[in-house]
Amino acid sequence: MFSVADFNITKIERSKLNDINLENIPFGKYMTDYMLEVDFEDGEWKTPEIKPYQPLLIQPSLAAIHYGQAIFEGIKAYKNAAGEVAIFRPQDNFIRFNLSAERMQMPQVPEEIFMEGLKQLVKLDANWIPTQKDHSLYIRPFMFSTDETIGVKPSDNYKFMIILSPTGPYYTTPMRIYVEEKYVRAVPGGIGYAKAAGNYGGAMYATAQAKLKGYDQVLWTDAFEHKYVQECGTMNVIFIIGDKAITPNLDEGTILKGVTRDTVITILKEIGLTVEERPLNIDEVIEAHKAGTLKEVFGTGTAATISLIKELRYKDYDMFFEVDKWEIAPKVKTIFNDIRYGKTADTHGWMMKL
Ligand SMILES: *Cc1c(COP(=O)(O)O)cnc(C)c1O
Repeated sequence: MFSVADFNITKIERSKLNDINLENIPFGKYMTDYMLEVDFEDGEWKTPEIKPYQPLLIQPSLAAIHYGQAIFEGIKAYKNAAGEVAIFRPQDNFIRFNLSAERMQMPQVPEEIFMEGLKQLVKLDANWIPTQKDHSLYIRPFMFSTDETIGVKPSDNYKFMIILSPTGPYYTTPMRIYVEEKYVRAVPGGIGYAKAAGNYGGAMYATAQAKLKGYDQVLWTDAFEHKYVQECGTMNVIFIIGDKAITPNLDEGTILKGVTRDTVITILKEIGLTVEERPLNIDEVIEAHKAGTLKEVFGTGTAATISLIKELRYKDYDMFFEVDKWEIAPKVKTIFNDIRYGKTADTHGWMMKL
């Protein structure tokens, strides 16, 4: 339906890169020179536009800011020592994006627009991909409703966009985590499995309450018993108990199907661990801790990759971990990084070269 030739490209006059130092830049602060913008009107996608990054002009009645039909994705592009550019598993994000769109009653974005748009944009902004250790280019595709009326209904009009942001190392100090028992992130039948903007807004109050108590994030639990662990903040969570890795299964639709989660599960299996995807009760975690078999706990997600957890607090039971002595999470991270930065062979076909 769409090919590269159908993209409308407006060139910049001067790169903003002249004014920015790409070393140790904070996450999400700077945007690159270009952005992709495509409108859905009259039941069809219009010509994709790649143009200089610029503000949008919106009506105060814009549907998305009232009723929240808004979804997004997070992907990373890397430049290896030879200067070759590759994007990590974008096909998985494309599939998930359209699952989120379906759940939020939004139109499907054609693969040609999503994938070609991504490639074109990253090619144009390739100079923005930092090459230092732990640096990358964060890619943010998103879509929102654009009807200009305040009646409650699914919009007829939408905008799909992609913006890019160079990023330095993510803040990865080991986290102190509070096991949440009052607020919930997701319920069966809800939108937990969708990368919908509202899931993030809905989580902020509980996170702020945990911060007041001195914690960095919450470990979400199920809505009915507050016993079964779900996710850690906006990351999937993996427990190493004995010689097994255990992570919540996805069947109930309360957990975001992370690309990093899937990648880490694959690596864990390859280094010899048994991986169980199943309901995990916090009581089982505590018993394992008391028995000395709870070895490691960490979160996984595109932004930070793997975040170690140094403290887990459930009611008045506190679990502390000596993360410096951990072996599995650091090993997985090294294997993962070597693939992403092109130091070892990409045997899984995870890197999409440009
Ligand atoms: C994005 C996200 C993740 C991580 O997914 P990745 O594909 O690994 O980046 C985990 N949980 C939530 C709630 C998320 O929004």
